[in-house]
Amino acid sequence: MDVIKQMLPTISQGLISGIFVNGTIITLVYFIVWKKYKTRLRNWRIQLKERVDNEQIKRELKNSAFTLFVSVCFSSVVFYLNSLGYTKIYTNIDEHSRFFAFGGFFVIMLVDDTWFYWMHRLLHHPKLFRFIHFEHHKSIDVNPFTSMSFHVLETVLLTFWILPFSFVFPLYAPSLIFVQIWGFLDNLKAHVGYEFYPSWWNKSVFRFFTTSTHHNMHHSKFNGNYGVHFRIWDKLLGTEFKDYETEYDKIQLRKKLNPQLEEITNQ
Ligand SMILES: [Zn+2]
Ligand SMILES: [Zn+2]
Repeated sequence: MDVIKQMLPTISQGLISGIFVNGTIITLVYFIVWKKYKTRLRNWRIQLKERVDNEQIKRELKNSAFTLFVSVCFSSVVFYLNSLGYTKIYTNIDEHSRFFAFGGFFVIMLVDDTWFYWMHRLLHHPKLFRFIHFEHHKSIDVNPFTSMSFHVLETVLLTFWILPFSFVFPLYAPSLIFVQIWGFLDNLKAHVGYEFYPSWWNKSVFRFFTTSTHHNMHHSKFNGNYGVHFRIWDKLLGTEFKDYETEYDKIQLRKKLNPQLEEITNQ
């Protein structure tokens, strides 16, 4: 009981900031992209057939509430174990070299992406899929609310690496927090349903980063494009959809068309 009492303030603070910060960002993006500029951005949509209905949004909101609660509880467990000295998470930058503190950010990013890729593939195993990951895949046409719509077990499984990793590897807390923020925004980008990256993206050094089209194709075509932040593992193991770059270029060409002009021409 004492443990729960000690964790309660962190849980309530996490819930409040989760609802106000994450909730506000997701809702704002939804209303701006999916409502206010819907017509203007029509050619920026990745899936041309719109399948999102009120039932889908309701289910995603319900799942998101559980996801938020479970991830806040998980973070509180990490904080609690850290206060007892079990983890190597540190806040004083002078504890290790600056190079180690900031370089850690890239290490955490790579570990997070690697864990995600392998866990994601495991969750797609035919014997396991319908019990956990199916909940996320119920959404084929994704929208900002899909970004937090997971089965509760998946929420824990996807971030669980932080515990064993922080037991052995010294992690500079701000770097860890920054990866979490970046992860949240990147996940939102993956599910926005529209392609906002420029046409040159896949022809530049940034091509190693996934685009919204990359993850969107995972929802519409299912068995491929498993990585969420980087394309590295998909490339190495040949799990990237062969037509990914062609599809990306097709959307970029479509983006150049003006929907208002098209309406006039069609009249
Ligand atoms: Zn999946
Ligand atoms: Zn997804």
